[in-house]
Amino acid sequence: MKKIKIAHLYPKLLNIYGDRGNILTLKCRCEWRGIEVEIEEINIGDKINEHDIYFIGGGQDLQQIEVAKELQKHKGFLAQERDRMAVFLGICGGYQLMGHYYQPFSGERLEGISLLDAYTVAGNKRFIGNVTAETDFVEPSSLVGFENHSGLTYLKGETEPLGRVITGNGNNGTDGTEGARYKNVFGTYLHGSFLPKNPQFADYMIELALGSKPEPLDDKIEMLAHNSLINKKY
Ligand code: GLN
Repeated sequence: MKKIKIAHLYPKLLNIYGDRGNILTLKCRCEWRGIEVEIEEINIGDKINEHDIYFIGGGQDLQQIEVAKELQKHKGFLAQERDRMAVFLGICGGYQLMGHYYQPFSGERLEGISLLDAYTVAGNKRFIGNVTAETDFVEPSSLVGFENHSGLTYLKGETEPLGRVITGNGNNGTDGTEGARYKNVFGTYLHGSFLPKNPQFADYMIELALGSKPEPLDDKIEMLAHNSLINKKY
């Protein structure tokens, strides 16, 4: 039987707006196909071993400080995991820490782990609302979710956007990009949580982790939720 090992990074600190729903979606969509799933919660002080998928959720600046410090201990290992094409998904605060740094509105700059060639600086406005973006990586190409961040993320080098903003703000509200991708590392500002309403992207992550396309599921209900949010602002 095929098996996927998922590391849920720092769920006690970075799990705002139900980002745990992303882990549940990956678990269910694997088990519905008879793919065995092993989920390991990684907390402060834990060792991180090899996994197929790494997930890190969002959080407030305070929780990000603690996780940022801890992540520095694993920077080299996680870069190796990125380079052997393991799959990563970071949401909002977790996404920000996958870049070079996050400069909060006040206080010290938080060092990131540079899985993505990106950096984030806090703006003086909070972006709150629904987001619709268009991606080139999956079909249907629309991605929907909810953003709530003051961080403005800018992409550099070979790190490309996850998608183009159709409604909402995305990375920074000015360059029309949302999220990021480098190799199989993905970041996005889309809470909601992200994967339950974007099942095609959940399946893409499973495909990348397995190395083969999973059989299709009946996503009628998931796509009803997805389509209800397309181009919806509030
Ligand atoms: N604290 C970060 C910001 O405000 C991330 C917020 C979040 O994860 N929703 O930009």
